[in-house]
Amino acid sequence: MAPNAAAKRKRNQDDDGVFGPDDCPDGFTARQLFGQGTSYTYDDVILHPGPIDFGAHEVSLETEVAKGIKLRTPLVSSPMDTVTEANMAIAMAEVGGLGFVHYNLSVDEQVSFVRAVKNHPVGSATDVNVVDASATFSILAASGRSYAVVTDDGRLGGRYLGVAHASDGKQLSASAKLVDHLAKVSAKKSRDDAHAAIKADEKLEAVPIVSDDGNLLGAETREYLLLRETLPDAGAPSVDAGGRLLCGAAVGTRESDKDRIKALVAAGVDVVILDSSQGDSAFQKSMVLHIRASHPNVKVIGGNIVTRRQAYHLTHIDDGKGGTVSVDGLRVGMGSGSICTTQEVCAVGRGQATAVYHVSSYARSLGVPVIADGGVQNSGHVVKALSLGASCVMCGSMFAGSTEAPGAYVTDPATGVRVKKYRGMGSLEAMQKGSDVRYHSDKNHLKVAQGVAGTVKDKGSVRKMVPYVAHAARQGFQDLGVASLAAARTELDEGCLRMECRSGAAQAEGGVHDMHSFTKVLFG
Ligand code: 5GP
Repeated sequence: MAPNAAAKRKRNQDDDGVFGPDDCPDGFTARQLFGQGTSYTYDDVILHPGPIDFGAHEVSLETEVAKGIKLRTPLVSSPMDTVTEANMAIAMAEVGGLGFVHYNLSVDEQVSFVRAVKNHPVGSATDVNVVDASATFSILAASGRSYAVVTDDGRLGGRYLGVAHASDGKQLSASAKLVDHLAKVSAKKSRDDAHAAIKADEKLEAVPIVSDDGNLLGAETREYLLLRETLPDAGAPSVDAGGRLLCGAAVGTRESDKDRIKALVAAGVDVVILDSSQGDSAFQKSMVLHIRASHPNVKVIGGNIVTRRQAYHLTHIDDGKGGTVSVDGLRVGMGSGSICTTQEVCAVGRGQATAVYHVSSYARSLGVPVIADGGVQNSGHVVKALSLGASCVMCGSMFAGSTEAPGAYVTDPATGVRVKKYRGMGSLEAMQKGSDVRYHSDKNHLKVAQGVAGTVKDKGSVRKMVPYVAHAARQGFQDLGVASLAAARTELDEGCLRMECRSGAAQAEGGVHDMHSFTKVLFG
């Protein structure tokens, strides 16, 4: 086990007359730096190194996203309609993090995504080609795949009917029904059995995984099996007590959201996040009280907030019976998101490093985990957010444009670059679909955008990206001389973690400079 770096670094109290580190301390404590009246972003701040006597692989990033919900990887995907639907939530949980399914869609659609995550056989393919009993060979040809799994309703979770292969239909007309030519692929109950069946029969493209009552849960496919061999080891997935993948979902604070929450809880959601750009509201407090009373087993995260006072309000909600109720987690960030224009439009918010430090240091005294939400562009920002006290980091733009994000890739005609759509939930485009509730907007009044819509580059799979970002963060903690997030917090609280604000020139120096040309390859 790595020794406790904080103990090694305990300062002499300088009463021995010998020149020691405290006679000329480097930099500032977080309390000093963030107590000066300047709002700092992650890029403004630089952390000082500490002594190392452990390997980066020994650093534990284990954390909680909300009270009682543990994650091995402190990264979660944002509830945005261009970031988290079922595929992203499955992938995030499989790499040890968590996804929050957005709610800019009907209750039924959101519930079907949560069900898909909770029922997903861990480690099996996510993009299984599922069709209903009326599908024909022309539909199979159009899918670009050589197989289709057939269920009664054409969805995962439907009654499993069989698997059809293109080769079975070679002699058949395109209009022939798949269901009349189902291959005798026996369904399996576990991914390992399905995996073994594919390895044993080189003609098998897909082996369905079904529940005891005959419903399709997923499939192992040859395509996914080959892909998995190219992915880094993701370690243990995030699962609930029953071994099912963890899943979060966003909800609003209107009366109608009570039905949404009820349906999500019935679908097995583990944690709901009250999605608001300014969470210190009477609506949010009354929804927290409702969730506590009606769904005591589901965790609730409040936000967004940026101050200690807001944190106090969401952790001391008057229950009307002489007591108080607290959220199980806080989400921090206002105006820091890459697609966000709140600070420009409303003049309200806070630099994200300052917000994360202040809210976390208060919330920690109550044992309430904090999600640092927005503004994260690289693994260094993740290290800074976690070192300043956040329990987890929420990303939108970093995960947008990945294979698992909703939407199709297109080629930008001007540059030839492959891109996917990424839009703020406060962009006019998203608000027209319903997300204006996040911004306390009234349907009968003018809509004022607090976000933009655009595109981001193809980032590949989050199954590759997240293990890289997590390992880069471990290297960051190794440089700081701390072997766990708990040790980092001790350093922070004891004033042993030292830091400074970077000047503009220091920031330029900290990036690549003086190169004629270079290629930035982030991981390999
Ligand atoms: P990113 O990771 O892209 O920097 O930031 C993502 C975060 O920005 C989200 O998790 C959410 O808190 C916030 N966000 C998403 N859409 C909007 C928007 O349109 N306006 C504002 N103000 N914030 C947004």
